[in-house]
Amino acid sequence: VNTERKLSASVLVIGTGGAGLRAAIELRQQGIDVLAVGKRRKYDAHTTLAAGGINAALGTMDPEDSWQQHAADTIKESYQLADPAIVETVARNAPQGIRELEEWGMPFAREADGRISQRFFGAHKYRRTCFAGDYTGLEIQRTLLRRASEVRVPIVDTVYISRLLVAEGQVFGAYGFDVVDGTRVVIHADAVILATGGHTRIWRQTSSRRDENTGDSFRLAVLAGARIRDAELVQFHPSGILEPADAAGLLISEAARGEGGILRNAAGERFMSRYDPERMELSTRDRVALAISTEISEGRGTAKGGVLLDLTHLDRDVILTRLPRVYRNMLDVQMLDITKDPIEIAPTAHYSMGGVWVRAEDHGTDVAGLYAIGEASSGTHGANRLGGNSLAELLVYGRIVGQAAAAYSQGLAAQLRNRAAVNEARQELDELLAGRGYDNVRSMQRAIRDLMTEHAGVIRSEQGLGRGLEKLAAVEARLPDLAVHPDIAGFDDLAHALDLKGSLIAARATLESALARRETRGAQNRSDYPELDPALKVNMVWSLDGGIEQQPVPDTPAEIAALELPGEDSVVGKLVE
Ligand SMILES: Cc1cc2nc3c(=O)[nH]c(=O)nc-3n(C[C@H](O)[C@H](O)[C@H](O)COP(=O)(O)OP(=O)(O)OC[C@H]3O[C@@H](n4cnc5c(N)ncnc54)[C@H](O)[C@@H]3O)c2cc1C
Repeated sequence: VNTERKLSASVLVIGTGGAGLRAAIELRQQGIDVLAVGKRRKYDAHTTLAAGGINAALGTMDPEDSWQQHAADTIKESYQLADPAIVETVARNAPQGIRELEEWGMPFAREADGRISQRFFGAHKYRRTCFAGDYTGLEIQRTLLRRASEVRVPIVDTVYISRLLVAEGQVFGAYGFDVVDGTRVVIHADAVILATGGHTRIWRQTSSRRDENTGDSFRLAVLAGARIRDAELVQFHPSGILEPADAAGLLISEAARGEGGILRNAAGERFMSRYDPERMELSTRDRVALAISTEISEGRGTAKGGVLLDLTHLDRDVILTRLPRVYRNMLDVQMLDITKDPIEIAPTAHYSMGGVWVRAEDHGTDVAGLYAIGEASSGTHGANRLGGNSLAELLVYGRIVGQAAAAYSQGLAAQLRNRAAVNEARQELDELLAGRGYDNVRSMQRAIRDLMTEHAGVIRSEQGLGRGLEKLAAVEARLPDLAVHPDIAGFDDLAHALDLKGSLIAARATLESALARRETRGAQNRSDYPELDPALKVNMVWSLDGGIEQQPVPDTPAEIAALELPGEDSVVGKLVE
């Protein structure tokens, strides 16, 4: 029999990536009793992968920059689907987020005179992306962990949360287990902040590593009674590698095309001339991803389902000095020397623009006391994320959500407890562990990733999405036969079974929302509806039982709309990761 530990805190933060840490720090700074938990080691959160940088209109390089211009660039890039109030909050407050990081010792790159350096990312009018080499996320994570330790945030980074505890539309904690020894945990809290990341691991090619971004946020939120916004809007990076299977989706920086890399199909044809003859490989990220996907889906891809990114014509010195990470990574994972051989690549699920529906004021959800931030949330990016904005969002709303959860906790007249909700959560794990099934989690995860890649990748259609839903139903039907074996596989096995349950919900939300969005806009390409439909300036808001509600996006304030850049911006010399 498993023991059950009881923990309590005024505010529980689920997730110890950048978003969860920033919120937890705010709570401690306000003297609030907080507990932060995560299912993956804190020094290895997904946030550490972020490379290029973080946006804030500091104007250190281009003094003309302003938060208003940052907001305008964000809304334009979102294809008008971002919530203008959320964007305004992020753009206005990002400089404060940078100053705080600076105060806590973040080693930002600097100019000779000491100013924080800022560089261009695609679709920004001015240079406003702050960075630390090409490992900005790693340094942010380190800085936040250092600060969290200074202000004494208790962190338990081996706890998998399987359920939020809710009664009468109000959250009162969460249930889970320790992934190392299986000890159950009941955590009571006045308020809960969900910072559990996105759902990009449900595609075969993804820039998320194994067992992260499996859709936990979707599952935890909708079972608690919250809703999901824009599930279909997932950003695909044009170039991730195909092999080995474990590293599939590892990104090849867009700098490789920036430095002169050439894209060819299996026949050796430089196909970008058919899609964007002027800019060729330097076209925008969504266009390049669409071009590559079209080549592959129309049968001109390689046998493994990719195209070739060729750098062999570049000077060896250029490759070694300008693309050292790409050079090293390819030697490491494939023993491939990119100065001699082309890289086989395909578009890769990279970022969840959608996520848990949140209010603009404080990222509160439909459930009293439940908040969501970071990649788990939605509203900042609309149909396309401006590179560098996700880190900005998590800093800004981490602070705001921390303050809101503190106030909520302090204002509660009585602490809710509910035995039935705890029992239900306990039973779910009991049943999974008692299962006598024979089906394998990894094979079911693979089936989801295959169907999402085939039917809900870069190019979508009514017929394909319908087929995807049929295949998904077949995977859902296998669930009762799932085998969970902590005796031979450790409690990771239980974690993987729950990851799978999260992925099933995330896949359903994505397929149904993509079906409902009958247009082409940003990351959503419908081959049967190739035009943007102005009537669909709406968010697809999905809930577990209620289907999809189309929610109109509020108008952009005239002052911001006037600053939106006309036409398409040049991307030459501008990274977009
Ligand atoms: C290669 C790459 C490069 C990027 N570059 C940039 C960039 O330059 N600029 C930028 O702005 N963005 C970039 N991004 C995006 C950015 O890194 C992420 O959006 C951001 O870090 C997400 O942070 P987060 O805190 O919301 O989530 P995460 O860092 O994903 O953290 C999620 C946390 O939740 C925990 N968790 C999840 N499920 C559970 C559960 N069931 N129980 C308990 N804990 C759970 C995890 O263990 C983890 O601690 C990049 C992403 C990638 C992959």
